[in-house]
Amino acid sequence: MARAAGKNIQAKLVLLGDMGTGKTSLVLRFVKGQFYDYQESTIGAAFFTQVLSLNEATIKFDIWDTAGQERYHSLAPMYYRGAAAAVVVYDLTSMESFVRAKKWVLELQRQGNPNLVMFLVANKADLSDKRKVSAEEGEQYAKENGLSFLEASAKTAQNVNELFYEIAKKLAKAQ
Ligand code: GDP
Ligand code: MG
Repeated sequence: MARAAGKNIQAKLVLLGDMGTGKTSLVLRFVKGQFYDYQESTIGAAFFTQVLSLNEATIKFDIWDTAGQERYHSLAPMYYRGAAAAVVVYDLTSMESFVRAKKWVLELQRQGNPNLVMFLVANKADLSDKRKVSAEEGEQYAKENGLSFLEASAKTAQNVNELFYEIAKKLAKAQ
């Protein structure tokens, strides 16, 4: 019997969060399977594509990484316009980055696509000795605001593939 053709979904995914939280590192871990310790702060816009195959669908991610504009705490709405998924990243060793993450979430809720699949990610989970934001705080905030939450590490790869698979599954379900 012929296998039923799965859905093909193309989805724009954007990353938001303070500079230095590890957005680019998470993308590079996912797309290239590597971690670069002394990476230059993002210079120039970056665009990546990656395909994930689930049983029910094939998801082609168009991933938009910031070009360092987050330094000024602003991103043009054009950056996240049309996005199907957003990953808001903070660094769990920085309370300031968590506070900023909440502002990005608010902005997306106000101006993003109403069906946006949103994940809050506490990155740098490998630096637990320097932790400033507890897992409970992140989880609680995410729950109250209807986001999914994960602690991850671009360095050790903890939860990085899981993050993108979870997003893919939600996108497949929503189609
Ligand atoms: P971006 O500005 O949000 O894109 O952040 P980058 O990906 O450029 O990362 C900023 C710095 O944090 C770089 O020096 C990275 O090597 C480091 N970094 C990123 N992710 C992790 C992580 O999971 N663990 C640790 N220990 N360092 C990380
Ligand atoms: Mg970057």
